[in-house]
Amino acid sequence: MTGSPFLSGATLLTMKPGELPFVGNLRIEGRHIVALGAVESKAGDDLFDCHGCVVMPGLIQTHLHLSQTLFRNTAENLSLLGWLKRHILPFEAAHTLESVAISSQLAVAELFLSGTTTVLTMEAARHVESVLEVVTRFGIRAVVGKSLVDKPVGDADFSEPPDEAIADVFRLKETWHGRAQGRIEVCLAPRFALGCSESLLRRVARVADGEKLRIHTHAAENYLETEQVRYGTGRGNIEYLHSLGLLGSSTYIAHCIHLEPAEFDLLAETGSHVLHCPTANLKLGSGIAPIPELVSKGVSVTLGSDGAACNNVLDMFREMNMAVLIQSGRLGVGHLGAAQVLEMATRKAAEALKKDKEIGTLEVGKLADIVVLDLNRPNTCPSENIIAAIVHGAAPQNVRHVFVDGWQVVRDGELTEIDLKELLPQARESLRELGQRAGQLA
Ligand SMILES: [Zn+2]
Repeated sequence: MTGSPFLSGATLLTMKPGELPFVGNLRIEGRHIVALGAVESKAGDDLFDCHGCVVMPGLIQTHLHLSQTLFRNTAENLSLLGWLKRHILPFEAAHTLESVAISSQLAVAELFLSGTTTVLTMEAARHVESVLEVVTRFGIRAVVGKSLVDKPVGDADFSEPPDEAIADVFRLKETWHGRAQGRIEVCLAPRFALGCSESLLRRVARVADGEKLRIHTHAAENYLETEQVRYGTGRGNIEYLHSLGLLGSSTYIAHCIHLEPAEFDLLAETGSHVLHCPTANLKLGSGIAPIPELVSKGVSVTLGSDGAACNNVLDMFREMNMAVLIQSGRLGVGHLGAAQVLEMATRKAAEALKKDKEIGTLEVGKLADIVVLDLNRPNTCPSENIIAAIVHGAAPQNVRHVFVDGWQVVRDGELTEIDLKELLPQARESLRELGQRAGQLA
């Protein structure tokens, strides 16, 4: 039995509005931060010397697909619809409970080693319980959704009748929602308008309302996709979702690149959240989301790395850096700043998820979701501007310790709960078998 973690001599970056970084100590007891600042350790504390390190809130990614992690480096140089139909959906259809577990565990390992402590993730249509089992067991904070698809997309048809799909969500909710003292949640995840009938989407809106579940979906990612939605419905993608009652403050929409002028206002007025995935958007040639314009309209924007199959990593440092740089390339410097993006990855994401009373800043009484970054490394030294060092320079190699709910999941740069020597060969073998089942990677 080790004592309470006591982090000493750190630069504390609390992410509270207007608070500058300051040197101090931080004490964790159980699941919570119990003291912070000029505080003393107690006898028996587990001492961490954090001189030269930044202690900050854990990073929050709001758009991921954990079960796609095994498909990393398998589908390159493709745009969204070909990538999805020819590779990703056949792979998802060939997944088993075991391959989903290995894929999710690989994702959690990478997320922890790169400082992410909370995820909002959209999974496949099947074997979602396997993802839930992994996130519960290994300690990440997660909101998990089963893909809802009732229209065939491509050849690998795993569309389900809406009744069955929704019944499955209820089963998942019954077993997993609120587990691990609220660390685990289930949500509704209609995949995208092209894979969902109008009646399924209306049903999702009703169930979300009645059951108080979040909605996590994709929209307006690719030009062709957006035009197909327009052809089928006569509306822009966001306008279409709004017409079915899907927008609102518990709705989280990945991408939002190809928007009509009126859709900026719809997103703002309804309090819907845009999940920005800059690397995946470039990788699939989808375009660049108009983030500064959305922010200036008052739209909530948070970040995610999407999936390892379209990124190819789940590294939030890379996402933050990319988010700033692509807007500089698009509009000139100064339209989206490093400090703003770091807020999107911490406090603003906690607010978007309505978890800001628990996480997103370092404060006494909040849950101990904490990352300790060692900036005394070649890629971040000298670190005169800490925000620049984190957003534009930091990488997984700077992550020294990670806590979720007070549970230490990374210690001295090593995972405490996951054995990579065992996991990485399993992942390679699992992909080989999956490729055979899916008729891919011959
Ligand atoms: Zn996605």
